[in-house]
Amino acid sequence: MRQIILKKGREKALKLKHQWLFSGSIDRVTSDDGDSDYSSELLQVIDYQDNFLAYASYNPNSKIAARIWSFDEDENVFSHEFFDERIEKALNLRMALNFECCENRGFRIINSEGDFLPGVIADFYDNMVVVQFLTKAADSYKELISQILLEKTGAVGVYERSDADVRSLEKLPPSAGLLAGKMPDKELIINENGAKFHIDIVKGHKSGFYLDQAASRKIISEISADKTVLNCFSYTGGFGVAALLGGAKTVTNVDSSKTVLEIAEKNMQLNGFSEDSYENICGDVFSLLRKFRAEKRKFDLIILDPPKLVDSRKNLNKAAKAYKDMALVAFQILNENGLLANFSCSGLMDRDLFQKITFDAAIDAGVNAKLVRRFEQNCDHTVALSVPEGFYLKGHLISI
Ligand code: SAH
Repeated sequence: MRQIILKKGREKALKLKHQWLFSGSIDRVTSDDGDSDYSSELLQVIDYQDNFLAYASYNPNSKIAARIWSFDEDENVFSHEFFDERIEKALNLRMALNFECCENRGFRIINSEGDFLPGVIADFYDNMVVVQFLTKAADSYKELISQILLEKTGAVGVYERSDADVRSLEKLPPSAGLLAGKMPDKELIINENGAKFHIDIVKGHKSGFYLDQAASRKIISEISADKTVLNCFSYTGGFGVAALLGGAKTVTNVDSSKTVLEIAEKNMQLNGFSEDSYENICGDVFSLLRKFRAEKRKFDLIILDPPKLVDSRKNLNKAAKAYKDMALVAFQILNENGLLANFSCSGLMDRDLFQKITFDAAIDAGVNAKLVRRFEQNCDHTVALSVPEGFYLKGHLISI
């Protein structure tokens, strides 16, 4: 077995069970002839004094050059039994948290490092599993992982949506299609706390739905009664449906994609809402907020849930400006005692900085903002405490 030998002092992160190894920590890789294909290979990570630290996969093309798969020297990593045990553990945790693989349920089964399967994501929708393989090693075991998922979940099929941008960081091309079982013979629908949603696993974003926002949608539902709600970056209408179920007076969904708004429309009908209780506007949120301000149109509750605005540390300042700008205009078009639910799903934006940005926006808007509560990713999106980078979704509910 080839070995990844670390530079002196670089073993600390692994001793704290972090699962990433940056190229700068690596002294050398034994028998590296410069053009090996490491895709499915298991390597040993050792410190400069030749002590075993972990088993890892290695991708010299990625900034995160090695991913740790086990800290146990006796574990038979990458065997059928290995994947079986990890997946079983992930499923058992979901069951303990009251998520079950059954009709109309939607939840995340495997959350990458959070379930000690780096680069592997699996979501359950109704009777299908949708998988994403985001690293080379994960990608090379996708058939095996999909077969195990098919057996353990009782799903009719496992469909791949490995078309996320992050694959390019690993020099992996996009890949999508059926990996195990068959395609569903009905439309997939999930029921999330009473709200029903159509799930398009082929054309939808990510694996089909933003499951990470399930807990926040429930909270929004609970505070929506009799309110006029502006749901910015609505996608297929998630927060909008939740708000109307919670008794909102009206919901205005805004998204720049016509395709997702067509599904939002279907979701509104699926839940039986009358056409005069909602509108779906296709447009750019940044300009629309300004348009509403010019028209003096106001709302009682505004949701801002933009896509990831920070993709590198370099553009953190630019993104901070965009977050602030949006929150500022949102505050200006809130009615008295109005509420703003402000989210960021950028891992590189930390919670405190995001809170400060929201605060700066409130100061500029001249409102006395109160932090009513915090939001975070739903609990099926597990985070290993040793890899806190996995905690990416944060939000604040602000009252003025
Ligand atoms: N809140 C949603 C998820 C939002 S994902 C849910 O709970 O399901 C982000 C959405 O923002 C995507 O649907 C994308 O099409 C949309 N989007 C991206 N940029 C936009 C812009 N400038 N204006 C309006 N929508 C935008």
